[in-house]
Amino acid sequence: MSEETSYDAIVVGSGMTGGWAAKELTEKGLKTLVLEAGRTTVPEQDYVEHVPPWEVKFHGMRDRRRLEEDQPIQSLCYACDEWSSKFFVSDRENPYTTESGKPFRWIRGRQVGGRSIMWGRQVYRWSDLDFEANVRQGIAIDWPIRYADIAPWYDYVEDFIGVSGEALQLPQLPDSKFLPPMELNPAEKVVQGAIAKNFGNERVLTIGRVAILTKPHRGRAACHYCGPCERGCITRSYFSSVNATLPAASKTGKMTLRPYSVVHSVSFDARTRRVTGIRVIDAKTRAATEFRAKLIFLCASTLESTRILFNSATPEFSNGLANSSGELGHNIMDHIKGGGAAGMIPGNEDQDVIGKRPNGIYVPRFRNVKTKQREFIRGYGLQGGGGRDGWQRGILQTGFGAEFKNSLNKSGPWHFNFQGYGECLPNHNNYAELDKEKLDAWGIPTLKIHCAFGENEFALRKDMSVTAAEMLAAAGARDIQPFTDDDPPGFSVHEMGTARMGRDPKTSVLNSHNQAHDIKNLFITDGGAMVSSSCVNPSLTYMALTARACDYAVQQMKKGEI
Ligand SMILES: Cc1cc2nc3c(=O)[nH]c(=O)nc-3n(C[C@H](O)[C@H](O)[C@H](O)COP(=O)(O)OP(=O)(O)OC[C@H]3O[C@@H](n4cnc5c(N)ncnc54)[C@H](O)[C@@H]3O)c2cc1C
Ligand code: SF4
Repeated sequence: MSEETSYDAIVVGSGMTGGWAAKELTEKGLKTLVLEAGRTTVPEQDYVEHVPPWEVKFHGMRDRRRLEEDQPIQSLCYACDEWSSKFFVSDRENPYTTESGKPFRWIRGRQVGGRSIMWGRQVYRWSDLDFEANVRQGIAIDWPIRYADIAPWYDYVEDFIGVSGEALQLPQLPDSKFLPPMELNPAEKVVQGAIAKNFGNERVLTIGRVAILTKPHRGRAACHYCGPCERGCITRSYFSSVNATLPAASKTGKMTLRPYSVVHSVSFDARTRRVTGIRVIDAKTRAATEFRAKLIFLCASTLESTRILFNSATPEFSNGLANSSGELGHNIMDHIKGGGAAGMIPGNEDQDVIGKRPNGIYVPRFRNVKTKQREFIRGYGLQGGGGRDGWQRGILQTGFGAEFKNSLNKSGPWHFNFQGYGECLPNHNNYAELDKEKLDAWGIPTLKIHCAFGENEFALRKDMSVTAAEMLAAAGARDIQPFTDDDPPGFSVHEMGTARMGRDPKTSVLNSHNQAHDIKNLFITDGGAMVSSSCVNPSLTYMALTARACDYAVQQMKKGEI
């Protein structure tokens, strides 16, 4: 039987946002094709979170030769270990270039589920402090939406994915619909108490807000604290598209999920001014196919969706489809991290932790909330946590004989670390363009990325280490070590902004519903749509924007506008 080539909707990408688009469009009755460049993900075979180190070839020490050859960039990411490196792209097959002196670490996943398999699951809402920042400070352009526009969609997404955390009623970090919070450990409680006592009118330490279930939720089991979530989760206790949205879409009977489908470009009919379909290269056979649809959602991730639009140039849109504004590819943002501090927390030697809680602490943004800083605008949140060294500290400690061995039977001292994530300002000069000379493994032109942090980001990073150290000092920590690492952009894996939303088609690619200003049946709902970056992890906002855009698109279809 020949393959069906015509659909109501096509979604490109099956990761965090593609999964949501697939679920929403199919549940609203649209026959939907999901095109995914990577392989199928089969949880029973691919998830390896319970495989012990002695059952993997290099006992957890990684195949360094292979990584150097095939994943020199991906292997720099903390989550790309011997078990989970298979969820990260081959840098050889998926190259990109950067401007000399401006490194950019592009961390990607290419399989059904995308990076929703390896993500850190931290989920935070934006507030109007974020949505109004650009217009108040005269930076870039204003967001076309406010918190009130997205709040119901945060509710909607959180109700489905399940978010555990603590309500704080902070204006700068609106509360989610929470499942019970995970518990802080003794060292974290010490630091929490010290912050409340010394900085209580502006700083607060809480448990991280995570898309992990602390009780059964919508047919998925509660987390059992096994720890290495980036290797998968057979109990489906954390949210990923494989664990939740794609099964929901599949249940409707309306979804066709097509792996090994590398999208080359989008086809456009200049007469009707509509996109008509998607050109695909089969990842295994290299055969070219075209699929047609009335509605197209690009959810291939910020820079990949932008690359697809550059590769879809037409005589009219010679610098990229839907790019009459010239903003496509510009305004790349990623959170600046690398500032923080670590120290030992004395006491609580009779206490220990049971299991591996897959979550840390969070100190919501406190800079430029109630009072203004002179050195920088915007702010940062601090992540991190406390813990106790186990017997493995023997690898790092020197010692000898029975006494040394016996000392390792007991847990080591409590330690604590803070690591900041700071807001990155939108800057037209941070951009990606098509590199027609450099092709990927399927012969498709790749991206050249020009991106660097600016003075404001560096000032934020410096301040992270100062405030982290001062909170540790207030908690009576010993051996406090402030740090500022020189992590380049991309490494927070929160790249966003290359197809921004806006009210004016002359200065933005998308309207307030993620619909291309230039082409009514084209939507982009990944991080490309972001107008500024806030300082909180962005994926919850991408998901909420995707669900909202699907609702709008289907309404427009019903009205005959699409
Ligand atoms: C280690 C790690 C930790 C993270 N922690 C957090 C966190 O705690 N909180 C948070 O908010 N975010 C976190 N992130 C970021 C988060 O994973 C991303 O923001 C999110 O996955 C983006 O969703 P997406 O749908 O845009 O892209 P992805 O989830 O990456 O999905 C894109 C999909 O599109 C497919 N694709 C790409 N190009 C093509 C093409 N040409 N044709 C067909 N298919 C294509 C890819 O194969 C992929 O499956 C983390 C990421 C990593 C790697
Ligand atoms: S720690 Fe919890 S969420 Fe993570 S893999 Fe284990 S059970 Fe799943």
